[in-house]
Amino acid sequence: MPYPITFALHRRSAVLGALGLVALPAFPALAGMKTTPSTSRVTSPSAADVWPNALQVPGGVARLSLGAAAMRPRAMTTDKVPLLVLGDPTEWTTLVGIPLAAAPGEARIAVQAKDDAAMREIVYAIAPKQYREQRLNVAPGTVDLSPADQARYERERDHLAIVMATFTEPLPQAPSLHMRVPVPGRRSSSFGLRRVFNGQSRNPHSGMDIAAGTGTPVLAPMPGRVIDTGDYFFNGNTVWLDHGGGLLTMYCHLSAIDVKPGDVLKTSERFAAVGATGRVTGPHLHWSVMLNRAMVDPALFVFSPDAKL
Ligand code: ZN
Repeated sequence: MPYPITFALHRRSAVLGALGLVALPAFPALAGMKTTPSTSRVTSPSAADVWPNALQVPGGVARLSLGAAAMRPRAMTTDKVPLLVLGDPTEWTTLVGIPLAAAPGEARIAVQAKDDAAMREIVYAIAPKQYREQRLNVAPGTVDLSPADQARYERERDHLAIVMATFTEPLPQAPSLHMRVPVPGRRSSSFGLRRVFNGQSRNPHSGMDIAAGTGTPVLAPMPGRVIDTGDYFFNGNTVWLDHGGGLLTMYCHLSAIDVKPGDVLKTSERFAAVGATGRVTGPHLHWSVMLNRAMVDPALFVFSPDAKL
């Protein structure tokens, strides 16, 4: 069954020199995180408060300890994209969105203490993950854009590059970055799916598809501010929410948009309705989560036993 073609935006590849495969280190624990008996798996406040799940693979999230410091340090990727830093003076932690295009192996970030110009590096390992591949053969020419559509797509790409660079404060409320699912429904596990049309690789699927009928309300997964709405060639009617600190979410193929840029939403507030606009085969919600300009797996942010990768 063909997946809807949802356009994954061009972005600077954060591929860092692959220096061979490195064993995945233990995830640094967040301050105050305790091990809990298996009988309190869901009710444990410490476990429920620590989201997203860390998963150091392409399309995943690394949770790296920056140690203790009186002031919040600054952290950035090697491309100088600012990173989300949460915590308190006893321990600061950065959450790093790992691009789907990242090469497995050693990766690094730069950290700067607030009162010190010197930068230090933190090295971490990206483990390989083999995402599924879907090969489709269609009539020649049907996947090529007309010159007019190509021009429109390029205008939209340039506009969205600005939207995706949003980094605002206040930062999301620490320590929990737990999101609720924006619509109930069957959630596909197609994040990262590699698609090959007529032997040509396309951008991988960079979000989660949730099956739902046209008109189903779309609810804010956590507090956020609307930063962009529009009707895009591939994505159809789309809303972008800013949750602070470079954490953004995107909702595509909507039948209705109830908000405008600048509107502020509370968790579970309705802002749109599911539809089938843009390049899709049927109604569903495409939901993307972006962290430091990298599309990461929304399932890592959803507290649900069946939402794990
Ligand atoms: Zn999708």
